[in-house]
Amino acid sequence: MNNIDIANLIFPEVSISTDEIFARYPKRNLKEGQMVTRFAPSPTGLVHIGNFFQAFISYNIAKNTDGVLFLRIEDTDRKREKVEAKKVLYDVLDNFEMKFDEYQTLDGEDVGDYGPYVQSQRVEIYKAFAKKLVSEGKAFPCFCKKTEGKEDVLKLRETKFSEDDEKEYDPCRDLSYEEIKKHIENGDSFAIRLKTKNQGNERIKFNDLIKGELEAKANAKDFVILKSDGTPPYPFAHAIDDTLMGTTIVVRGEEYIASTPAHIELFEALGFKQIQYCHNPLIYKLNELGNRRKISKRYDPESNMMYFCENGYPKEAVFEYLLNMINSGFEIWRKNNPDKSWKEFKFKPSQITTVAPIFDLVKLNDISKNVIVGICGEELYKNWLEWAKVYDIELSKVLEKERDKFVAVCKMDRDGKPKPRKDIFNYAMMKEKFHYFFSSPVTFAIEEQDKEKANEFLDAYRKDFKMPASNEEWFENVKTLAGEMGYATDNKLYKANPEQFKGNVAKVCEFVRLAITGEKDSPTLFTIMEILGEEEVKERLNIRF
Ligand code: GLU
Repeated sequence: MNNIDIANLIFPEVSISTDEIFARYPKRNLKEGQMVTRFAPSPTGLVHIGNFFQAFISYNIAKNTDGVLFLRIEDTDRKREKVEAKKVLYDVLDNFEMKFDEYQTLDGEDVGDYGPYVQSQRVEIYKAFAKKLVSEGKAFPCFCKKTEGKEDVLKLRETKFSEDDEKEYDPCRDLSYEEIKKHIENGDSFAIRLKTKNQGNERIKFNDLIKGELEAKANAKDFVILKSDGTPPYPFAHAIDDTLMGTTIVVRGEEYIASTPAHIELFEALGFKQIQYCHNPLIYKLNELGNRRKISKRYDPESNMMYFCENGYPKEAVFEYLLNMINSGFEIWRKNNPDKSWKEFKFKPSQITTVAPIFDLVKLNDISKNVIVGICGEELYKNWLEWAKVYDIELSKVLEKERDKFVAVCKMDRDGKPKPRKDIFNYAMMKEKFHYFFSSPVTFAIEEQDKEKANEFLDAYRKDFKMPASNEEWFENVKTLAGEMGYATDNKLYKANPEQFKGNVAKVCEFVRLAITGEKDSPTLFTIMEILGEEEVKERLNIRF
C-alpha cells in the first residue's frame, strides 16, 4: 500500500483534484509592476490599529502600482462569533471608505473571480491540497491527542527559531497503512501534519521587502496543516489562498517573521512559487515613564479603529497620521505640498519604516486640526451631521432642525478668514465646544475678583442694548461705554498707568463674552451674537455673576 492509498483512506470524501482547483483560478493578467495585495483579517469583533495599518499599506501598494487590493476573511476559527464581528469589520472599512477591488459582501456574494473570499467557505480546497500532500508522502495523519484543538497552532506561531532548537518529528509520521486503517475504523479523529524534510540543523535565508535579507533556522517541525475539524491553521490557508488568489505581496505584522521558515517549507512542499513578504513593524506607545510598549487592546482605546469612528475623526486625518508612521518623508512632503491629497504621496515597500512607530494621540489631533481647518463651513456641518446621525441621534435632530444656524456656527472664523481657527480635531468635541448654541451657559469661567466689575458693566451695557449692525459698531459701542465707566480705551495708556483705570476694553469684552458664552475665549463674539439673535443675546446679558 502506498501514500495514494493512505490519502484515499483518510480523505474518501475529497474527489476534486488540485489541478481542477487551479483551473478555477487562472493566472492574473498583470502589467509590468502591478501588484496584487490583500487585507486578510480574522473577524474578532474589533479592528486593531495594527491590522488597519497593514490594510492601509496594502491599499497604498495596490494604488501606487495600479494593482489589485482584495479582502479575504480569515474565519476558520469556528469558536469565535462571526456574524457580528464581520459587521464591525465592514462598518470600520466603510467608515474609512477603504475600497476593495475584490471581496465578499456581507450577504455572501463574491465580487471578483478569485473567491470565495471567506476562508470558512474554502474547506474543500484545503482538504484537496492536504490530500495531495499526503498522497505524495509530504504530509501524514496524526492521531495523537495533542493535535486536538488549536494549542498546537499557537505553539507554532510562537516558535523561536533559535540555534539550539531541535527537530520535532511527530510519532505518527511513520504509521503504516494498516495502523492508519485501524484508527480510521475506530473512528479516531486525526489532524494532518506536514512531514518536514529538515533535520533541525539547516538555516535558510529569505527576503523581506521592508527588512531586506533575513536569516533563520529552517523549520524542522511536523506542524499541523489541517486540524481535526478539517480547518486549516493560518500557514496552510495562507499558502494556498495567496497562491490561488494571485497575491504578489503579503503585508503582515512582524510577529509572523518567526514562523516564516515554516511557511517557506510549506510553499516548497506544495510546489508553489514563494511569495514576497513585507513584514511591517508593530505599533508602540510610550508609557508615563517614556518606555515603549506595544499598543494594547486593554489599555489603549485608540488601538481599536472604532475609536476614531466614534469620536468622529476625519478619515483623511487618520490616513495622514498613518502615512506619517509609515514613512518619515511624508511630513516634509506634506509641508511642501500643503494642498495635495495624501493619495498623491507615493512610497515603495522598501521605504516603509523599520523602526517601530510610536502612536501619539496629540500628534494625530494636530494633524486632524489641520485637516478640519481646510474644510469649509458647509462641509464641516455636513460631516458633523453625518457623524451625529450614527453616534448622537438627538444631536443630529437638532442639527437638522436648525440647519441654517449650525451651518453659520460651522462657518464662524473659518470661511474666508486669512487665519481660520484651528481648534477642532474631531466631530465628537463640537457639541461641547459650541455648547452655548444649544443652551444658555450655566457655568461661567469668571474670576471671583472680576465679578463685581462685570455685573456693574453689564448693568449699564444691557440698558439700551440693541443688536449692533456690524462687528465695528459692536466694538465701538462697548468701547464708548467702557470709556465712560473708567476703563482705558487706549491700550498704551493703560499699560503705562494701569492703576488709573478699572481695566481695559479687552476686559469688558471678556465680560460680555462670559455672559453670552460662559467662556473667556470664543470665536468672534459679534458673529456669535448674530447667530443667537437679539432676543437671546438680551436674555443672556441679564446674567448676574
Ligand atoms: N488573519 C491573519 C491575521 O489577522 C492574517 C495575516 C496575514 O495578513 O497574512 O493576523
